[in-house]
Amino acid sequence: MKVLVAVKRVIDYNIKIRVKPDHTGVDLSNVKMALNPFCEIAVEEAVQLKERGVADETVAVSVGTDASQEQLRTALALGIDRAVLVKTDTETGPLGVARLLQAVVEKEQPDLIILGKQAIDGDSNQVGQMLAALLERPQGTFASKLEIEGDHALVTREIDGGLRTERLALPAIITTDLRLNEPRFASLPNVMKAKRKPLDVLQAEELGVDTASSLEVVAVEPPPEREAGILVDSVAELVEKLKQEAKVI
Ligand code: AMP
Repeated sequence: MKVLVAVKRVIDYNIKIRVKPDHTGVDLSNVKMALNPFCEIAVEEAVQLKERGVADETVAVSVGTDASQEQLRTALALGIDRAVLVKTDTETGPLGVARLLQAVVEKEQPDLIILGKQAIDGDSNQVGQMLAALLERPQGTFASKLEIEGDHALVTREIDGGLRTERLALPAIITTDLRLNEPRFASLPNVMKAKRKPLDVLQAEELGVDTASSLEVVAVEPPPEREAGILVDSVAELVEKLKQEAKVI
């Protein structure tokens, strides 16, 4: 069984985001970038499937600039066998990414495709669902448990008040939720080994895919600054302030 994992380069989740002065986007200059956390979970799941002998090949793919090779090397250091960069210097949006991934899937013919449920930069939560629609294959989104039974995948997801398990015919698309697994850290020897694993670069234009985005970002705004809190000396003072100043009681 071949597993394909889609991984995105995003701003490290520990970084405080700065909005560009012209409000056209987020300032990416000199900012630490990382593998999207939900993609790390997707990588971990693929690696565990290989370790359990369920998968025999794992491939990571990323759509982006040359810089995304760094995140593909991270995926390789975490145990993925080989990587593919779909190189593009233009911002494609979720549909463009899904179309490019569709072209890679048609070339690679994986049995299982694992994506993160969302990328923490745009928070779109769209690429997995769009890819499933384009490929006309079943999708199991927000997976918190995944089991493979022959040519089917059993996908459990959390729903209001419980869990729901669905049985999908393979090839299928899975998107990962936080509780699916706990990603490992890459050891130094594995980081070194990853440098010698294959990483192919495909030019997006050569895939014959229309990646023009129909989305236009109108403005990006930072959240409003929170006002500093105050300390009160007694419950009576708190009640007084809630009545007279906040006017909430
Ligand atoms: P999104 O729909 O943008 O929130 O992203 C959901 C998931 O789609 C991510 O966790 C990735 O697995 C995949 N994805 C999004 N953008 C890219 C990209 N540029 N390259 C590879 N995978 C991507």
